[in-house]
Amino acid sequence: MEEFAADREAVLTRALDAGVTAVVAIGGGAAPGTLDCGLAVARLAPAGGPKIWATAGIHPHESKDATDASIVELRALAADPAVIAIGEIGLDYHYDHSPRERQRELFSQQLALAAELRLPVSIHCREAWDEALALIAAAQLPAAGVLHCFTGGVGEATRVLDLGFLLSFSGLLTFPRSQEIREAAAFAPADRILVETDAPFLAPVPHRGRRNEPAYVAVTAARLAELRGWTVTRTAEQTADNFRRLFRRAE
Ligand SMILES: [Zn+2]
Repeated sequence: MEEFAADREAVLTRALDAGVTAVVAIGGGAAPGTLDCGLAVARLAPAGGPKIWATAGIHPHESKDATDASIVELRALAADPAVIAIGEIGLDYHYDHSPRERQRELFSQQLALAAELRLPVSIHCREAWDEALALIAAAQLPAAGVLHCFTGGVGEATRVLDLGFLLSFSGLLTFPRSQEIREAAAFAPADRILVETDAPFLAPVPHRGRRNEPAYVAVTAARLAELRGWTVTRTAEQTADNFRRLFRRAE
């Protein structure tokens, strides 16, 4: 995102200093020619920095701008070995930036593409649990996926885990009002959890309110370690193992 245009290299150096050895640059866009932003960042990766992987997908916010050509472009991008997943895709009924029917249509099309290509998916779900989980179940994905930036409690976590998916926890884990998310993070099986930044959004406490960046995922991992009764090292190793198991192209 443009928030990192001025100092991307310094951000990546700080990430490596914090122990972050791999980063996923999330694709976005919808109109033809704009879907490759994740891959563009992966290609900009400076030598000696963290490894940068990419995803490609049409975000629910941008569903209204997508055309048939967007799906054709997405299929081509997914052939790149640096693209490890289709995402972020899903439903967002909180902001409703695109009509809900169009969101569902694009989500289903992209789930079908992921199933065909045997790629995992990264799901964005906001206030649309029932419909998002039903569409995921119907897609019968061979490579499963992750519920990114998980915002639910134990109930939602159970439904996501039952689909064979992983839960990814962001800086929300450190916010005072996120008790339900913390309960889900303590409850989920060890091999089904990930940590992420959602940068530039959702910086963890004590960076809350400022631009988030990959180095801060260490803060979220430390909070997860506390919740699980694990050492930070075990948390780092477990979540990295989970990452490599889900995103097979990143092995
Ligand atoms: Zn999202």
